[in-house]
Amino acid sequence: MTLLYKSASGKEVRHASYSAISDFDSCPRLFKLSRIDGYKDKDKKCSFEFGKAVEDAVQFYHANNLKPGDGIDEFKRIWLKWKEIPLVYTSQEKDWAWAYRMGADFLRLYEICLPDLPIRNPKFQLNYAKPLWPGTDLAELEFTSFIDILSTLEDGRRIIVDVKTQKNPMDSTPGMMSLDPQLKDYAWASGIREVGFLCFVKSSPSMKKGDSVTLLEDQGDWKAGRVLEVVRFIEHGVSDPTEEDKIVAGDTAIVQLMDAELAEIKGKGSTEKKAEVSAAYLADGRIRVILRQNVTKCRLQWVQATIPEEDLPDAGNQIGHKMIQIKDAYEKNFWPKTGGVRWPVKCPNCRMRGHCLNRPDLVEQLLVKIGPAVQEDEWLKELESEETE
Ligand code: SF4
Repeated sequence: MTLLYKSASGKEVRHASYSAISDFDSCPRLFKLSRIDGYKDKDKKCSFEFGKAVEDAVQFYHANNLKPGDGIDEFKRIWLKWKEIPLVYTSQEKDWAWAYRMGADFLRLYEICLPDLPIRNPKFQLNYAKPLWPGTDLAELEFTSFIDILSTLEDGRRIIVDVKTQKNPMDSTPGMMSLDPQLKDYAWASGIREVGFLCFVKSSPSMKKGDSVTLLEDQGDWKAGRVLEVVRFIEHGVSDPTEEDKIVAGDTAIVQLMDAELAEIKGKGSTEKKAEVSAAYLADGRIRVILRQNVTKCRLQWVQATIPEEDLPDAGNQIGHKMIQIKDAYEKNFWPKTGGVRWPVKCPNCRMRGHCLNRPDLVEQLLVKIGPAVQEDEWLKELESEETE
């Protein structure tokens, strides 16, 4: 029987996913240490659990007939489980409480933006597996893709959507996402060429002049979803410690106009004159004071593209080429260290560096080895999700 490799728990593996192929492409030794030897991060990362909680809450919101607030409550319910469990947070994720706030903001943003998103009759978490060489002695080898959302466009065509929770927005140049290798591979596996990313873009808690924020609640005739520019952040405790944080904000064009007016004011009495100008903008509502909790710096980004038909055979050939390399590496037990320490920097950030540097202390510090097969499903899910960090 054809085999790609045998996993840490002795399972015979005959399929490869996008992330498995990416790992192999990045460094065959990394692939071996994680997928064959079964080493995984000792510490649980917030990014993985947080992304999963956001996706599960989105799915729950749809399953519950889009009942307002239900997605937010579901995220909070899931995230409460992690309150007492140590997770590794990035500087942007900060801590459990900030992740709790960001997750609630994401689900609120999703509620606000959904009517404008091409997400209709969604099906969640589908698995498309496609054999590479049907009818040959390699017929058992498959590429497997995990599709977060399958949706239907207005004209009836289907679209596959990958959900990302990440720190930076995607490139929004029209059509650029048609060059994304993951979406190309998924299009090849599913036969669906319409593809999109639904990105939940995290933000740090800081708030300062010039930041872009989105309204989470209506403020008079300013409706939830409106994007504003921060004029000033008013931290609680400055005048009254019982007060909540607030911001002063307005539409970017208005804020620019006001800034230009203020810049013109110079010389004696300028402080008072500037205060008068700002007060006038506030008085007629061109800029407004808003509770900090009613805005978010987090963003929901949608990018969509069509994979050209002529690119699909290339994607399939590329997948096949890599799978043969993995099979060959397994048969020859040849797993070279092809990381890098300059550009692209891989090894200094790689969790397997203790092995490659012959440093048992680092191995002990960074890694655990998966145990019985019962843990393997969860371990594989983590591996498949790593590219979403
Ligand atoms: S430390 Fe470098 S060589 Fe070793 S597995 Fe990681 S990327 Fe590869």
